[in-house]
Amino acid sequence: PAASLRAANDVLAPNDLEAWWLPFTANRSFKRRPRMVARAKDMHYYTPDGRAVLDGVAGLWCCNAGHNRDAIVSAIQAQAAELDYSPAFQFGHAGGFALASRLAAMAPGDLDHVFFCNSGSEAVDTALKVALAYWNVSGQGSRTRLIGRERGYHGVGFGGISVGGIVTNRKHFGTLLAGVDHLPHTYSREHQAFSTGEPEWGAHLADDLERIVTLHDASTVAAVIVEPMAGSTGVLPPPKGYLQRLRQICDRHGILLIFDEVISGFGRLGHAFAAERYGVTPDIITFAKAVNSGTVPMGGILVSSRIHDAFMKGPEQTIELFHGYTYSGHPLACAAALATLDLYRDEDLFARTRRLEPAFGAAMMSLRGLPNVLDIRTLGLVGAIDLASRPDAAGARAFEAMDRAFQEHGLMIRITGETLAVTPPLIISEDQIGELVDKLGRVIRAVA
Ligand code: PLP
Repeated sequence: PAASLRAANDVLAPNDLEAWWLPFTANRSFKRRPRMVARAKDMHYYTPDGRAVLDGVAGLWCCNAGHNRDAIVSAIQAQAAELDYSPAFQFGHAGGFALASRLAAMAPGDLDHVFFCNSGSEAVDTALKVALAYWNVSGQGSRTRLIGRERGYHGVGFGGISVGGIVTNRKHFGTLLAGVDHLPHTYSREHQAFSTGEPEWGAHLADDLERIVTLHDASTVAAVIVEPMAGSTGVLPPPKGYLQRLRQICDRHGILLIFDEVISGFGRLGHAFAAERYGVTPDIITFAKAVNSGTVPMGGILVSSRIHDAFMKGPEQTIELFHGYTYSGHPLACAAALATLDLYRDEDLFARTRRLEPAFGAAMMSLRGLPNVLDIRTLGLVGAIDLASRPDAAGARAFEAMDRAFQEHGLMIRITGETLAVTPPLIISEDQIGELVDKLGRVIRAVA
């Protein structure tokens, strides 16, 4: 199979690209000048013609252990040979239970129960549905309002785009969920430009939750969902004290707090979960992506015992939650995750990220002063650079930067709007951080 895959890569010609409608992609432009990858190992992708590309984004913020790690590959291969698929509706398999216990042990507080799905979007919709159902089974069915945040990204399901706050992801898709409000986003260039880590300014923005609760009354509010660090909107680190304040307000009014940790989970900010970094325990955590280093689609939520136990009543043969996916807890995804969590532990990758954070932040800040650089933000092993737009061409400069980085400088980066984001695998060496930042600098000069 490896040989035939290689053959397929070799023969791929531009006119083979028509049928696949790529997600979140400028398709016509891509098909004129494709950015193709054929294989990957550790910190690099390789193009079909064998050119090495430094992976500056861990795939799509997911390959935290680096690519094609032998232990993960072997675990997937062995699992495929042993048990390819097992239904999770009324049946189970050892890998799913082992992984759930492992994740519960890594999670903060009493987040001791795991519900599996297959992506971050499904994790978000699962979290929102569990929150709503929790209030129903607890006799407070009037708590139906959901509160998200401007510039939030919670995937692309109808629930996720409703609580999300990225205009382009919402405006073409109808009326969305009713009864949703949004907190203000936390970014202000005026107050926080070029700051590493959590900005000093902005904790007071959490107080807007009080205003929303006062408007609607707490008895109608089910849950608040935020990303501890907003990632896809262009990397917005939480202001110091902001998440703590959100927790306090939720506690005061009995509102559930959901952390969407699809990006911030599994070491990206130097801890198993951002909840740990900030000493704030939410009621539900969503996860996906790096749980198995992006190797097999998987997502899930961790919920508190209080929430879980509220469902565990009534006759024993009744289904407690009418929700789930054919591929919930897929054996291949579980095996990959168990091997990945071993790697994170054995190579101490979360602590390593904490150690690298200052050097990474300083290296990124060295790009200050290059043409068109308006702001740089860093947190954990995440960095973002805002570029000035060209006149009448919003996003064009960043798009060209992403394309030229890949085609000419051997670097994969991610863009949103006019922001360049880098989120390398956690195995990146200090030399490779230098190389990444050096390449970024060249790219920024090239699009001046
Ligand atoms: N939630 C957050 C915070 C994300 O960053 C993402 C994806 O980037 C998602 C949800 C959606 O995940 P997926 O693309 O796996 O559906």
